[in-house]
Amino acid sequence: MALVPGEYEFECSECNGDGNIEIGPVDHPDHEWVTCPDCHGDGELLVDEDEAAEMIDDGREPLRGPSTWRMPLPCPRCFQSYDLDEAKASFDHQYAGSSDWKYDVVVPMHMCADCASEDADARWMDGELESADGPPPSADEVKGAWRTIGKKLGW
Ligand SMILES: [Zn+2]
Ligand SMILES: [Zn+2]
Repeated sequence: MALVPGEYEFECSECNGDGNIEIGPVDHPDHEWVTCPDCHGDGELLVDEDEAAEMIDDGREPLRGPSTWRMPLPCPRCFQSYDLDEAKASFDHQYAGSSDWKYDVVVPMHMCADCASEDADARWMDGELESADGPPPSADEVKGAWRTIGKKLGW
């Protein structure tokens, strides 16, 4: 059965997807297996979008979601959730016409746009990444630039 937008399926945490739970002490004669009261023996829970968002926040991964749905991945550097397509678009836009870096080419793993640009800048300064703009300024050039700025500001 395909899920419709707003429906998410999780493994039942009460019975760990088994559908049955053990009640009573294991060695006791009263010990028995009963149908899980949470999922009624299905082993799975169907929840709506809001409940699913809470469960994902708790670190649980849905088994299934609507076909349009994608798992929101947190950025591996800052752990903020971000949209990969948006991160790519904003990264490409930020460097278009300057270093001409493309997210798909220079970003080693998927991360948010802020982290991706910090990472790319750091690798450029280290000489690992080439830029259409040319090499990073040398230490002397940086000093010279500061001197020029300093003079302008009357330092
Ligand atoms: Zn259950
Ligand atoms: Zn990030």
